[in-house]
Amino acid sequence: MSGAGGPAAARVAATIRPDIQALAAYPVGDAQDGIKLDAMENPYSLPADVRDDIAAAARDAALNRYPAARHDALDAAIRGAFGVPADAALLYGNGSDELIHLIVQACCAPGDVVLAPVPSFVIFEMAARFHHAHFVGVPLTAGFELDLPATLAAIHAHRPKVVFLAVPNNPTGGRWPDEAIEAVRAATPGLLVIDEAYQPFSDGTWMPRAAQLPNTVVLRTVSKIGLAGLRFGYLAGPTPWIAEIDKLRPPYNVDVLTEAVMLAVLKHKPVLDEQAARLRASRAELAAALAKLPGLTVFPSSANFLLVRFSGKMGANAVHRALKTRKIWVRGFPGGDPALADCLRISLGTPDEHAALLAALRDILA
Ligand SMILES: *Cc1c(COP(=O)(O)O)cnc(C)c1O
Repeated sequence: MSGAGGPAAARVAATIRPDIQALAAYPVGDAQDGIKLDAMENPYSLPADVRDDIAAAARDAALNRYPAARHDALDAAIRGAFGVPADAALLYGNGSDELIHLIVQACCAPGDVVLAPVPSFVIFEMAARFHHAHFVGVPLTAGFELDLPATLAAIHAHRPKVVFLAVPNNPTGGRWPDEAIEAVRAATPGLLVIDEAYQPFSDGTWMPRAAQLPNTVVLRTVSKIGLAGLRFGYLAGPTPWIAEIDKLRPPYNVDVLTEAVMLAVLKHKPVLDEQAARLRASRAELAAALAKLPGLTVFPSSANFLLVRFSGKMGANAVHRALKTRKIWVRGFPGGDPALADCLRISLGTPDEHAALLAALRDILA
């Protein structure tokens, strides 16, 4: 391997796409020990009986074989656990991230438009860039609400192939009203992707209509409900859409172990539901406690995190650094969307973690 500026650098500069060279890599948090509230993970681990079932399933998995073409048992388990309608087709991904890429690849020729509100999930924009599509971001309002008139105007002006709506939205936490989503859907000439990564912490879902709307698919992940390490997401929608997007899927993208573990865990779905309910129940209390701190604004959240704006003496970056020195890891947005410059995103944790966070913030802001 040659270092920076070594013999490889000139070849890289001449060969790697200039737009890729100009990109910054997706920021994966570097938290190690301490209190990890930066990535919307479920802080609760799985109970021993569930782990035993996972161990047995892994032991019996046929690792010498490629994953099967059909996933009938998994399909039935996913439909039952997550309310996917019988007439919706399903597609699985190595995380829902992979499905976002496949959707853009399937829909967009170079220069076609991908549209989403901003700030939202950065992978929407990255997927567009990677696949030579043109990303149009429609700014949210100052209060981080969907700007429906601006969104509709941008759809009419840019005729996007794909519109992504994260519902609830990451990193702001809000849930767009169903009437607004319906207006976006009706105006969308291509495909509307409703990304429900945070649906388990929210009221309402578009999943019951996943087969009925001619231009809409519903995207979900198990990452935020306790299985972020597994890498499994699913897309539900009308068969004609799913059949086309499936053509781009790497044939064995969901591996034998992931399928076996999913099946084992879904037999214990109430455990996941109970953990999500516990997190959700703790949200209002943490939000209220944070809002009492000087200079903090907490945005309404329907997800397992809170977006907080710091407008007091200490800015978000300084608070972020001070939390890091106490080994409390939250997400900051340096160099990101300017609308988030004075914000931190705090994932929900255990009651003890919330107490430690609040104590640290009181100390830092004093
Ligand atoms: C976390 C997140 C995902 C990605 O989930 P994975 O399944 O872990 O790839 C998708 N969409 C949104 C809005 C997210 O916040």
